[in-house]
Amino acid sequence: MRVTALAGGTGAAKLIRGLAAILPPSHLTVVVNTGDDARIWGLHVSPDLDSVTYALAGRLDIARGWGLHDETFNCLDAMAHLGAETWFNLGDRDLATHLFRTERLTAGEPLSAVTAELARRQGVAALILPMSDDPVRTRILTSDLPGASDGWLDFQEYFVREKANVAVIDIAYAGAGNARPAPGVVDAIAGADVVVVCPSNPVTSIGPILAVPGLVTALHDTRARVIGVSPIVGDAPVSGPAGALMRARGLPVSPLGVAQAYGGWLDSLVVDTRDATLAPALRDLGIAPVVVDIIMTDHVREVALASVVLDGAGS
Ligand code: GDP
Repeated sequence: MRVTALAGGTGAAKLIRGLAAILPPSHLTVVVNTGDDARIWGLHVSPDLDSVTYALAGRLDIARGWGLHDETFNCLDAMAHLGAETWFNLGDRDLATHLFRTERLTAGEPLSAVTAELARRQGVAALILPMSDDPVRTRILTSDLPGASDGWLDFQEYFVREKANVAVIDIAYAGAGNARPAPGVVDAIAGADVVVVCPSNPVTSIGPILAVPGLVTALHDTRARVIGVSPIVGDAPVSGPAGALMRARGLPVSPLGVAQAYGGWLDSLVVDTRDATLAPALRDLGIAPVVVDIIMTDHVREVALASVVLDGAGS
């Protein structure tokens, strides 16, 4: 069974670890959001690509949900002493990834090639693809925040610096209109038996992937069964700012809002047992509900949910 997963960061990393435990690596492709990429200290940081790669390499700090385990932050401390901005935490060994990526990109290599090289050198055999080699940047419009002259914040300024603690008026995917899918992305969706939409923020993790021209069409056209896992349980996300971002997009904060965001091409949605009552409403939308415990607190649960997803896709 060939599986292509659409992924953001923390929530996706958990499910992908589960999928990787079940599938042969050559049968797993992960298409990753790059809308929250950022330039920090002149370095090109790709938080979601790194979370997915570190997760598959067994190097992710699972408790934090980002960065490397057993990490130190000596460079960050030294930068703070120099008066540099240090709201974005870059670990010492993690810095090697960003230095490597930035050097290769500066030399003219596309992000997809650098991503493949980083995965290979960390022993990851699954295929990890950025959604696009072209820059797409998620931006958040907030009301009169000091420092955001036009009201627009880069995603990491909103998410990390402001801790998502500002009112969200709108969301934009700058550059998306001119972005092309990275090599292999459309084929990975077209050629899969199952496409998995990971439990990721529908607006700022999956939204930028869908904003790349051609990808929604590929999801409509694929013969694969497309199955999502809800990042929302009841009326709140499992973690993070997905609620406020969905509201700003006019989506109800519920698994039905997730279904609405993926309307038209989603065949099936895995929702939590606490949302069992939504099954008829999902069926009315033409989406087959799968109702299980969707909280992944350890690896056993990651594998269990991944196998439910693959079974659900088969049914
Ligand atoms: P981030 O927003 O950049 O951190 O990356 P993601 O979008 O991949 O991860 C955040 C999303 O994952 C949030 O909307 C969470 O609700 C969701 N999430 C995190 N952990 C879990 C989990 O164990 N189960 C489910 N179903 N969703 C999760």
